[in-house]
Amino acid sequence: MFTENQIKAFENIKTPFYFYDIDLLTRTLDKLKSASEKTGYKIHYAVKANAQPKILKLISSYGFGADCVSGNEIIAATENGFPPDKIAFAGVGKTDEEIEYAIQNDIFSLNCESFAELEIIQQLAEKAKKTAKIALRINPNLNPNTHHYITTGLEENKFGINLWELEKLITDLKSFNYLELTGLHFHLGSQITDLSVFRSLCMKVNNIQNQLLKKQIKLPHLNLGGGLGIDYHKPDEHSIPNFELYFNIFKKFLEPIPGQSVHFEPGRAVTGQCGSLISRVLFVKKGITTDFAIMDAGMTELIRPALYQAFHKIENITARVPDKIKKYDVVGPICESSDCFGKSIELPETARGDLIAIRSTGAYGEVMSSSYNLRDKAGSYFSDEI
Ligand SMILES: *Cc1c(COP(=O)(O)O)cnc(C)c1O
Repeated sequence: MFTENQIKAFENIKTPFYFYDIDLLTRTLDKLKSASEKTGYKIHYAVKANAQPKILKLISSYGFGADCVSGNEIIAATENGFPPDKIAFAGVGKTDEEIEYAIQNDIFSLNCESFAELEIIQQLAEKAKKTAKIALRINPNLNPNTHHYITTGLEENKFGINLWELEKLITDLKSFNYLELTGLHFHLGSQITDLSVFRSLCMKVNNIQNQLLKKQIKLPHLNLGGGLGIDYHKPDEHSIPNFELYFNIFKKFLEPIPGQSVHFEPGRAVTGQCGSLISRVLFVKKGITTDFAIMDAGMTELIRPALYQAFHKIENITARVPDKIKKYDVVGPICESSDCFGKSIELPETARGDLIAIRSTGAYGEVMSSSYNLRDKAGSYFSDEI
């Protein structure tokens, strides 16, 4: 939802652009903070969802840590207020340079995904004469009931260490004297709205811990990853995810050992609802069944619909006759048929020059943009600055 003043300001900004509602982000972070404090859970914001410096600074000011998936994300996190000892580093393909950077900065944990990776981290840590803190990312083989492109916790996915390899790996680790095993890491996938999936994850983690306890293996932390979904259909009714409900599942079903810290890595749930992509209608073109609303934003600014058939709510925020509803295929200008934000979308009668808001684009929106077709980079604006 936008105020009249915001829409007036939008008229004078070059489209397309991203608009971030800082007030909503602040309220979201307040809720996340109180919910995590009630449970004692530690939060590492997943930087890959949105790495705007201003947004990172605001999130780090809450005392949260960061979850990074590249060396450049670690740099962005530290430059914007996240202390290295609260930074987790995940990724199936870390380069030597990235690993060295992480070791030099004494980050909270390198989340490792294979024996081959552990060998390289050991070598690089030895070279740096430093102990690398590591966690093992385990593939729990659980289906999160989300789109298969954003499912990561199944054996067929490239992510994590398979359960049957775990015990041997932990035994082998004992000879790696530059590695300190500090925890276990799990991340099932993204946009998970079926919360029973998290209950199943708790059961899996409890089982794994019980197996390890029989071998006297006790680890300082458990990291349950991210994945909490948001309501793309009703962004105004559900503008803030129910973090309490989410954490309560873990409080009820997860059995950490005494003294063990429990960590989460939400990305989408933190920044998803605060962003909108604002675009202008260039042309309305007659189609066979529905007309096309052709916009100046395309898959180069927001690739999620083209990449994962993702749904985003589309609104005409400057419609002249709000009650006259028609159906449109809302498309971008890029030379690809998948460059479509929605088919047969009901909008008030739309004309050239109208402003269109594509909602819930604060996560995996701007960060995934590209310059395909040599497009200009869209600008970004914040509610407290316009
Ligand atoms: C992407 C990712 C996250 C964040 O996922 P969301 O669905 O945005 O909460 C957390 N942890 C890891 C390891 C990731 O790759």
